[in-house]
Amino acid sequence: MYKKLFYVLAIMIIAAFVPVYSHAAGPLEGRVIILDPGHGHGTSPAFAGYIEHIRMLVLAEKMRDILEARGATVLLTRENHIDIPLPVRPVMVNKWALEAIRNERIAQLNSIQIPEYEQGCVYALQADIAQLDHSIAILDKILTNPQVYAPIYMNTPFDTTRTRVIHPEWRRILELQNDPLIRYNFMVVSLHSNATGTPVDTSINGADVFLSTNCNVLNTTYFAGYSHADVTYIFADMLLDGIHNIGIRRREITPFHWMIIRETNVPAVLVENGFHTNAADRAKLQDDNFLARLAVVYADTFEQYFAAITPAYAEELTTIFTPGQRLYLERTMHLFASTDTATRVCAIAPQAVRVVGTYGQNWVQISTWLGDKWINLWHR
Ligand SMILES: [Zn+2]
Repeated sequence: MYKKLFYVLAIMIIAAFVPVYSHAAGPLEGRVIILDPGHGHGTSPAFAGYIEHIRMLVLAEKMRDILEARGATVLLTRENHIDIPLPVRPVMVNKWALEAIRNERIAQLNSIQIPEYEQGCVYALQADIAQLDHSIAILDKILTNPQVYAPIYMNTPFDTTRTRVIHPEWRRILELQNDPLIRYNFMVVSLHSNATGTPVDTSINGADVFLSTNCNVLNTTYFAGYSHADVTYIFADMLLDGIHNIGIRRREITPFHWMIIRETNVPAVLVENGFHTNAADRAKLQDDNFLARLAVVYADTFEQYFAAITPAYAEELTTIFTPGQRLYLERTMHLFASTDTATRVCAIAPQAVRVVGTYGQNWVQISTWLGDKWINLWHR
């Protein structure tokens, strides 16, 4: 039911919006894809000559080549075989995301032509940047000494008693997942291959995706409002079909609380690209040509996925306005004096505002510190 709903939704969105969505240089231009080749030396035992952390790094490198060729920015949590401790990887991801938001805010600040006419914007953006600097400093603290600081800020070791309250600093960092720059342009893929428990059952094969959702009761209490499941499910569904089509059987999409999908403020999935304890899956994962085809499946999936979700944001906004209603602006938006993009007066940082009225499909009038102004939902 859940799956079918998202599938139908994705198709509707693609059908309705793809024509208006164009790319400048490469279909993945502006997208940031973070690859986490799971494990590292000494953390994934060899099985019949297969070593997971080596093959997943080969896959990540092939993915990086093709994704970059299609215009994406690709970041890896490790580029060699040295193991990166688990809590460090989500912190790296979160820091990349916060730095990207910070860069966007600075660009917005620098785009203000006459600061004395736009003091409200200047102050709002400066406050935002100061908060981001503060959060980045906390992430740096954890990176410097993960043994001491990871357990203070993060839910590690994972609290299975469901009594732990999220640290306010960490909540602030995770809430930035709702910034549209991150939500609609970033994705983390943690790359793994699977093994059955002991005794090993070599008959089990196939690919799985894990994602973090509110459906998981262990997450609900700690991360109330976790919002990535809607987008990551679309990606997972498309990906498993693509992997199935090149010969590794589609298995399940499972809500879970692995650290890399749980403690990140970027939409994240953990993919088991087949079972290395199964001879047929293992032979494919050992084959560089197969990994090259798998990398193409990922790249194609990213193209479909971003095309499917990005216009959803505008649709989400256009359906909710009535005068007097409180509206939360998820990104910094331009303010216009009238319903004409030539009348830009300022920009407004993410915040709650009151709706005054609407005009057409895309214009919403809001109450601001400069009086009633207009925002355009399609204007970026
Ligand atoms: Zn693994």
